Amino acid sequence: MLKKLFKRDNSKKTDSRTSKTSSGNPKAANAAAKTSVRGSKGKVAPTKNTNNAKPAHGKAAAKSTAPKSESKVDVKPWKLEEFKVEPAEGKTRFHDLMLPESVMRGIHELGFEYCSPIQAESLPAALRGRDTIGQAQTGTGKTAAFLLTIFNRILNVVPEERFASEPRALVVAPTRELALQIGKDAEGLAKYTGLNVVTVVGGMNYESQRQMLRDNVVDVLVATPGRLIDFMRSQDVYLDQVEVLVLDEADRMLDMGFIPDVKRIVRATPTKDIRQTLLYSATFNFDVRILIDQWTTNPHKVVIEPEQITTDRVDQKLYLVAETDKYSILERVLAEEKPERLIIFANRRDLTRNLCDKLNKNGHSAALLSGEVSQEKRIRTLERFREGRVNIMVATDVAGRGIHVDGVSHVINYTLPEDPEDYVHRIGRTGRAGAKGVSVCLVSEDDAFCLPDLEKYLGTKLELTQP
Ligand code: AMP
Repeated sequence: MLKKLFKRDNSKKTDSRTSKTSSGNPKAANAAAKTSVRGSKGKVAPTKNTNNAKPAHGKAAAKSTAPKSESKVDVKPWKLEEFKVEPAEGKTRFHDLMLPESVMRGIHELGFEYCSPIQAESLPAALRGRDTIGQAQTGTGKTAAFLLTIFNRILNVVPEERFASEPRALVVAPTRELALQIGKDAEGLAKYTGLNVVTVVGGMNYESQRQMLRDNVVDVLVATPGRLIDFMRSQDVYLDQVEVLVLDEADRMLDMGFIPDVKRIVRATPTKDIRQTLLYSATFNFDVRILIDQWTTNPHKVVIEPEQITTDRVDQKLYLVAETDKYSILERVLAEEKPERLIIFANRRDLTRNLCDKLNKNGHSAALLSGEVSQEKRIRTLERFREGRVNIMVATDVAGRGIHVDGVSHVINYTLPEDPEDYVHRIGRTGRAGAKGVSVCLVSEDDAFCLPDLEKYLGTKLELTQP
């Protein structure tokens, strides 16, 4: 079906809260509106948003072209029967979730068969419109969990008309790499839906991102807080039509000092009783719990323990070495393990830089991913790593947080991180998506002081061996 595309009239900005109150219980409205399927014939029930949204925008300039997203849809016929997955005891199939067929086609193309634990536990409630909080790391499949919730919602509820600059779903993530990865995952899953996903992050071309917001209907917007605030300030984006809000890695947003920005962003969306909110965090400390109380209503809580990631699929080896022998032991580990795709973590930028240089001088193919590498270059490096053109990446924790690459066979901790959460995060780069991984830590006299805290955090004793 054709969506009408209008540019939002910036001169008549209205408050979403007042424009929506007469729609009654919005979450009930969500459920009722689900019966109207996108593309179905006949009258489409308006959503809770469109009931009242239309007058709010004043004079709108109609645009003659169809939204960009329409042209992306593959017209080749496809039938759900082509996607066969046998029911299996204790597993949830995507078929069991009643997702729109265009979404199922994307899932099929990505090769997913059964839901990961976080998907199986969160999707049934989230697809009904319930707020969800997920305690989970990357590598668990949480991105697909929230993306499927978004797509299901916006495909099943079709507004009568749309305006540019008004996303229906917003995903906020703390780092550019993570936001870009989410955007990429979203485009993959939404490939056959006709939905338009736009990603806006700092450090990249402002004007082209601005055009993407202003010139098309935006269905899903993925953003880092700073750049999103810039576009809100310049009135290139309005968040008062956001139906689903996702806050990813809430604890990192707190650590990185983004909370004032994120609060501002959340305030610009409809109130929590109207929007659906999904919040993910690796830890649920006191500060995160306060945000949950502020931003969600009776959320369904899903916990995927980090231990599942660290112990189940990753073989952890800790070698006791002298600091001065570290590089030669690293060479030995490389020769013995022959890692197909490896990330080496170290604590400081200068250390990662020296290590990367040394590896390249010694005939390896290594690339650097640290804060001193420009954003554009980091993205290119990640792409090269993903495509297998370089098989070793040397990274610091901050840069490493954005690495979401499948098929990382090994992680080496050249230095142990001081924060145990970083350890879990580092080794979670391998053993992803059901695969097995190997983690090797080179523990010297300089690292040993981190061990007690790490063991306490993991709740297990770590055994050190000679290399
Ligand atoms: P995430 O934790 O969201 O970063 O996802 C980790 C990886 O798992 C990504 O590469 C996803 O494409 C993949 N993935 C997500 N859900 C599934 C699934 N149900 N089956 C197989 N792979 C999946």
